[in-house]
Amino acid sequence: MIESNVRKLLDEIPPGVDIVAAAKTRSASEITCAVKAGVKIIGENYAQELLEVYDAVKEPVLWHFIGHIQTNKVRQIVEKVDMIETLDSMRLAREIDKRCAVIGKVMPVLVEINIARESEKSGARPEDTEDFVRALAVYKNIEVKGLMTMGPPDADGEEARSYFRQARVLFDKIKNLALKGADMKYLSMGMTSSYMAAVEEGANLVRIGTKIFGERNYD
Ligand SMILES: *Cc1c(COP(=O)(O)O)cnc(C)c1O
Repeated sequence: MIESNVRKLLDEIPPGVDIVAAAKTRSASEITCAVKAGVKIIGENYAQELLEVYDAVKEPVLWHFIGHIQTNKVRQIVEKVDMIETLDSMRLAREIDKRCAVIGKVMPVLVEINIARESEKSGARPEDTEDFVRALAVYKNIEVKGLMTMGPPDADGEEARSYFRQARVLFDKIKNLALKGADMKYLSMGMTSSYMAAVEEGANLVRIGTKIFGERNYD
């Protein structure tokens, strides 16, 4: 099933858009199945889960961190992940920079934006994003590669689309500023319920879990 789900998605998604298989709660064998079917990027939300499956997945694949990270977990993941999509504070940036300096790595990151300004949600507010990206230039072991957003969990259809559109406008604005230390290449948005609208609004990374692996029993 995972294999045919991936094939269908790969047929449907236009060239230039990459799928991040959102793999929280999934086993190494489920992940391997998705990779064999053509997924090139795996997204993990928790350091512990990443560590559990990382060595067991033998197929070559890229790993993106897509969850909220506590600074005390950064050290455990920097060696393993190819991108952190959820950079949301200077404090976290400082820790990523410090840990990457130790291992001689420059970490590609996406700045997470709280596009709907939800009070309980992490991420930079749209109006603060430009200054945040500018401030990140001091960190030599971080390279900003774009923006990521979750959007409100209960927004679907046209409502989700309007947030994706706002994220795209912000992305283009920051990209056009050509800020130092920022190479604005990726806009990560859209999940199982919203990825087509996200792609239509300019996403080039879509994070898809349920549609690849089936329903989750727990989160
Ligand atoms: C779980 C998750 C997704 C994918 O969700 P689905 O609805 O299962 O496709 C995308 N992004 C993040 C950050 C997630 O945690």
